[in-house]
Amino acid sequence: EKKGQAMETREEKRRIVLVPFPAQGHITPMIQLGQALNLKGFSIAVAQGESNKVSSSQHFPGFQFVTIPESVPVSQHETLGLVEFLMKLNKTSESSFKNCISHLLLQQGNDDIACIIYDELMYFSEAAAKEFKIPSVVFSTGSATNHACGYVLSKLNVENFLLDIEDPEMQEKVVDGLDPLRYKDLPVSGMGPLDRFLEICREVFNKRTASSVIINTTSCLESSSLSRLEQELKIPVYPLGPLHIKSSVDSSLLEEDRSCIEWLNKQKSKSVIYISLGSIAHIETKEVLEMAWGLYDSNQPFLWVIRPGSVPGSEPLPEELSKMVSERGYIVKWAPQSEVLAHPSVGGFWSHCGWNSTLESIVEGVPMICRPLNGEQKLNAIYIERVWRIGIQFKGEVKRGGVERAVKKLMMDDEGAYMRKRSLSLKEKVKASVRSGGSSYNALEELVEYLKTK
Ligand code: UDP
Repeated sequence: EKKGQAMETREEKRRIVLVPFPAQGHITPMIQLGQALNLKGFSIAVAQGESNKVSSSQHFPGFQFVTIPESVPVSQHETLGLVEFLMKLNKTSESSFKNCISHLLLQQGNDDIACIIYDELMYFSEAAAKEFKIPSVVFSTGSATNHACGYVLSKLNVENFLLDIEDPEMQEKVVDGLDPLRYKDLPVSGMGPLDRFLEICREVFNKRTASSVIINTTSCLESSSLSRLEQELKIPVYPLGPLHIKSSVDSSLLEEDRSCIEWLNKQKSKSVIYISLGSIAHIETKEVLEMAWGLYDSNQPFLWVIRPGSVPGSEPLPEELSKMVSERGYIVKWAPQSEVLAHPSVGGFWSHCGWNSTLESIVEGVPMICRPLNGEQKLNAIYIERVWRIGIQFKGEVKRGGVERAVKKLMMDDEGAYMRKRSLSLKEKVKASVRSGGSSYNALEELVEYLKTK
């Protein structure tokens, strides 16, 4: 009894430092991981920059928040593009993060930090881990397949790849161990200049000294990509997701408009198509109007998230749009997305296929229309359409006729009904994986065991 208590106190004192990448889709799963580990007896310190941070006033019991003074504001993500932003962020944060860790160590004595868990994009964290001899673990908040593709990209000969990618025969070649992915599917589009992006991939993988990798996925979704990763990385891989299933923390950077739940309450079962393109994507006014007409013509009620600033040059939104919406739809600036997807009135999700959105949709058994914008989202869309067969891809330019047809197909046709059935069966498998004895449950237990020995 006494021994158990002593163990507990020791564990309580053990701290884990989390380093999230400052974007909603990365912060959310990192905080959820923190909550899961906190429930296992660790205290959590979140190290974050000055902007896009989760405020400590949102209630996170057991969490401490520390600031990494950074010289690269998040606003530069948009102006510099992802690749240059990452290069700059990682270069400038290295020494300030070391300071941050040394302060934390002073607070609690030398063996206080069990581990630094950092977002794969925050690879500057390795330097501090090495200096203070603290074990580090990488957290990949995207899919295992995306992580495996990053690994493949990091090993390619850059000059050959730049030529290969132009070669139609090479483009169709299956990426070894990652069927059905072809070389043309490797997630490089929308990531900035290819040579610089490959440089980032090399930074992310080749300098890594982390002892293991956590991935927010589960083996029933991506078993072949996970096996490939285990073979290649030669360190333990913990697929312990989807983390949001068991989480109760609110890490939203924008305020959620809950009035949409009341609106959903008034709609018929499975009749609503929910539209959201995540926290970063932009869309042109022309496309918004074509979407609106297509949705209107489909005769289905729709709930649409249009983030402030996501339709450049169109604020307030065009008059024409409000008229259509007032008849059949509802627009919010930001929704409580998981709750929306869980609502019985929601029957389909028009999504940009960010990994969190994909997982949230799978967990609620909602089939999707995929409108991916960059390479990583395109990978997820391929899986949604061809591997799990729980959605359709919207290809080409967004025109009202195409939107109407896609929405009708998903919401009313037999093909949609078939996808819904498959979604519901996948939902059960994924949920079972986080229950006692399931693969994700076990992966979390193994990670905790490992962290306890540190
Ligand atoms: N989200 C939300 N409300 C919205 C739109 C999105 O809470 O109105 C959340 C969504 O639930 C998900 C995250 O924002 O957890 C978006 O992450 P994702 O990986 O899907 O895309 P990203 O924003 O990184 O492109």
